[in-house]
Amino acid sequence: MQATSSAINASSTTSTQVSSVRHNWTLAEVNALFALPFNDLLFQAQTVHRAHFTPNEVQISTLLSIKTGACAEDCKYCPQSGHYNTGLERERLLEVEKVLTQAQAAKDKGASRFCMGAAWSNPKQRDMPYIIEMVRGVKAMGLETCMTLGMLDSDQAKTLATAGLDYYNHNLDTSPEFYGEIITTRTYQDRLDTLSHVRDAGMKVCCGGIVGMGESANDRSALLMQLANLPEHPQSVPINMLVKVKGTPLENVDDLDAFEFIRTIAVARIMLPESHVRLSAGRSRMNEQMQALCFFAGANSIFYGDKLLTTENPEADADMLLFKKLGINPEQRQDVSDEAHELALADAIKEQQNPPLYHAAG
Ligand code: SF4
Repeated sequence: MQATSSAINASSTTSTQVSSVRHNWTLAEVNALFALPFNDLLFQAQTVHRAHFTPNEVQISTLLSIKTGACAEDCKYCPQSGHYNTGLERERLLEVEKVLTQAQAAKDKGASRFCMGAAWSNPKQRDMPYIIEMVRGVKAMGLETCMTLGMLDSDQAKTLATAGLDYYNHNLDTSPEFYGEIITTRTYQDRLDTLSHVRDAGMKVCCGGIVGMGESANDRSALLMQLANLPEHPQSVPINMLVKVKGTPLENVDDLDAFEFIRTIAVARIMLPESHVRLSAGRSRMNEQMQALCFFAGANSIFYGDKLLTTENPEADADMLLFKKLGINPEQRQDVSDEAHELALADAIKEQQNPPLYHAAG
């Protein structure tokens, strides 16, 4: 990609605003960042990253799928959608006790946050008592709690916040312009409304998108612009590379160039300077060098385990090996000593190579 004079101007402008949190990005500004020479873009992203985070720390999260498959939505990338036949085994909502057992195991291994995901359009009222018990139980263990359950109304968001839910994940997925090509069963505004309910209820927001779905470069810029121009930046921003699953409508879409993905991470880091940018789905298709460039570009969060919801994730011990090669440390829970945390985490990662219940997503 060639540098343009406007891109060079964008470079000098953003260099002087390394620490600023903005909510007024224009598409032209975002496109100019994408158009920077690769090294200039990564340098800026790394500079922003170092201004806001400990440079060699990556947050590691664990997620349990509490209800799998048969979702009523038609997200074209998703093997959990009931609209497509991907051979995925469906599971009902897990019993509360099973969820708490898994949460305790995660805590014993050093986890600080426990994320629970359900493939729903939205939680039904009959599900809420179980969901609340899960949140209360996990919270009582001293863990941070995170859920992704689909759309929420304002009352549901308040109920979850009162129960102790710290984070809610709900992605925008793509640009408003491309959105209709990917999902027809809920609107972009539905998603923005859910995010608004979550924020108003006082919960932290985990919200990102997916690239490599056949969208244009403008769509990638527009997605990041939407995220950065929300009233508050999401505390976590998962950037997913599409995993093409057989049976979904996107199974044969063209691959996204690896450098374009790394640029997306870097631009996200610059525009969302205080957010954890999560290198999410698609990591299993990335070699170590590409992942290292993503970390350099400002990604500072991953999921571990061998599944990302229902798709592959790199083997967990490969993550630890890569961390060692790069001198990266897991972001730590405050009440666990450095050595104990590292040992427990390494242990947990080894043990999670074939977990029937653990998934990693975002
Ligand atoms: S992405 Fe979520 S809402 Fe969409 S089909 Fe999959 S589980 Fe359902």
